[in-house]
Amino acid sequence: MPPGPILAWFDVHERDLPWRRDEATAWHILISEFMLQQTPVSRVLGPWREWVTRWPTPADMAAASGADVLRAWGKLGYPRRAQRLHTCAKSIAAQHDNVVPDDVDALLALPGVGEYTARAVACFAYGRAVPVVDTNVRRVIARACHGRADASTARRSDLDDASAIAPRSADGEPAPTAPRFSAALMELGALVCTARNPRCDACPIVGSCAWVAAGRPASTEPRKRVQRYEGTDRQARGRLLDVLRDRTGPVERDRLDAAWPADPGQRARALDSLLVDGLVEITDDGLFRLGG
Ligand code: SF4
Repeated sequence: MPPGPILAWFDVHERDLPWRRDEATAWHILISEFMLQQTPVSRVLGPWREWVTRWPTPADMAAASGADVLRAWGKLGYPRRAQRLHTCAKSIAAQHDNVVPDDVDALLALPGVGEYTARAVACFAYGRAVPVVDTNVRRVIARACHGRADASTARRSDLDDASAIAPRSADGEPAPTAPRFSAALMELGALVCTARNPRCDACPIVGSCAWVAAGRPASTEPRKRVQRYEGTDRQARGRLLDVLRDRTGPVERDRLDAAWPADPGQRARALDSLLVDGLVEITDDGLFRLGG
C-alpha cells in the first residue's frame, strides 16, 4: 500500500476535528478517545467541548465527584467509560504529576486504558511512530493488502500489518510522517473505505487495492446481527440512570419503578447491574443516587 497517495488525500480531506487542533492537549485527546470508543463523532463534539472547558486538566476532573462526571456524560451511552476516565484522571493527577504519559507502556498501565487508546494517545498527542489499529484501519488493511472484503476480529498481527505499511525513511526507521499516516489511514476507513459501501472511485489507492484487483470478492465472515436497543437491559439501565442524572439529590425506589414500568424483572436486573458497576449507590436511608 503506497503511503504517499493516502497522505496526499488526507491533506485535502482531513476533517477539522477539535481534538486534532494544535491547542488540544494530550488530556483533551485522551478524553476524545474515551468518548469515541463507542459513540460517533457527531455526538461526541458537544460533550467533548464541555468537558475540556470544565475539566481542562486531569487534576480538575480528579477533584470532581463521580456523580458529577456521570451527570456530565449525559446521553453518550456506555457510562462505565465516564467512570473509567474519572479513575484514570485520578491516577494521572496523583502518579504522573498531572501530565498524560507519552509512551505506550505507561499509558497501558493507566486504569481503563486499553491497547488502542494507549497507542492513539502516544501517536496523536505525542507524535510517537507507533501503529494504531482501530476497526477502520483493520478494514482498510484487510481489503487493500489482503484482498478480503472484511476484517475478522482483532488479531495480534494487525499491529504488524499496520507497522509494515507505515512510511519509512531510507534507514528503515519510521519516517516523520508515520504518525500522520496512522491518522490518515483511520480517516480513509471512516470516510471512504466504509464497512457497507466503500467508495472505491474516490479512494486514493484504488489502483493498488488487492480487494478491487481480485474482483471484489464477497465477505466470508458471518453476518453480524445489528444490535437492537429498544427493550434491552441497556435501555432499561439508561432510563434508570436518566432519573438519577436529572436530580441532584437521592430518589425513592418508586421513581425508578416509574421509569421502566413494563417489566419489573428486567428493571430489577438493570438496577442490580448498575449497583454492581458502582454507577448507582444506595444511601443509608434506602434511597438511590448516582455512584461516586
Ligand atoms: S479501493 Fe475500495 S476497498 Fe480498496 S481501500 Fe479503497 S475504498 Fe477500500
